[in-house]
Amino acid sequence: MSADSITPFTFESLPVRGALIHLSRSWRRMQRNHDYDQATAETLGHAAAATGLIAQSLKFDGAITLQIHGSGDLKMLVMQCTSDLDLRGMAVVEPDATANNFVELAGNAHCAITIDAGERPYQGIVAIDGESLSSSLEHYFEKSVQVPSHVALVANEQVAGGLLLQQMPGLTIDEDDWNRLHILAETLTSGDFAGDAGIDLIRKLFAEDDVRVFRSRSVDFCCRCSNEKVEDILKMLGQKESRAALKDQGEIEVVCEYCGRRRSFDAVDVSRLFSDNVVAGPDSVQ
Ligand SMILES: [Zn+2]
Repeated sequence: MSADSITPFTFESLPVRGALIHLSRSWRRMQRNHDYDQATAETLGHAAAATGLIAQSLKFDGAITLQIHGSGDLKMLVMQCTSDLDLRGMAVVEPDATANNFVELAGNAHCAITIDAGERPYQGIVAIDGESLSSSLEHYFEKSVQVPSHVALVANEQVAGGLLLQQMPGLTIDEDDWNRLHILAETLTSGDFAGDAGIDLIRKLFAEDDVRVFRSRSVDFCCRCSNEKVEDILKMLGQKESRAALKDQGEIEVVCEYCGRRRSFDAVDVSRLFSDNVVAGPDSVQ
């Protein structure tokens, strides 16, 4: 297994664990139905790789959501990955965006990372202060999670890839070794993912180290939108608003921002939605 997978590994002689992510088909699917400019696509690809890497490190069933809200051309970016490695994400950019790189794009942004394991979600927020998403995430790991980490992220239209190296808790690492790993991680390019990557790339990057590579896990593009969720949105919108929209357009069309799936509701659907509510109300016994 190579593309659309995450390969975990550890160093035999250093207290460091790592993971390499390689997204290809899922990454191209994510860009379908969107017309992202180059800087936005690169940032979204970085976010996809990073979110997958964080998700694979979760030791419980749940999901992680990475969100960027900024004052630059990038209004919003959302990337979600479950612990089963189902990934989806999208970005909203100002219509007349001119940003050429991450700093111009993100402006004075904050990045929020929400880890949802079913009970109370945990959220860490980090300012986008470096030149890249990866340096902001390193800051997040250091400050919010107290796990010193190196993060390298690459993306082009075809592939998104990344590398996460984390110090193992409770063990100390020689500073020169840690800096050396940083320099090696920084050599990662999108060209490294032109082929199979995976185990070969890990061994190439860390040729001087004894590395133990574990079985890869596959990553899929998977949107969790559903008819029920869209119906809930219409119910929240209310009967009056829904009927007004119906009157204007003949039907209500709802397009999922993540996967592009279109769902339409005609007069019969809308009547059904709101008649359900009426029946469930006074007649139901708690
Ligand atoms: Zn969807």
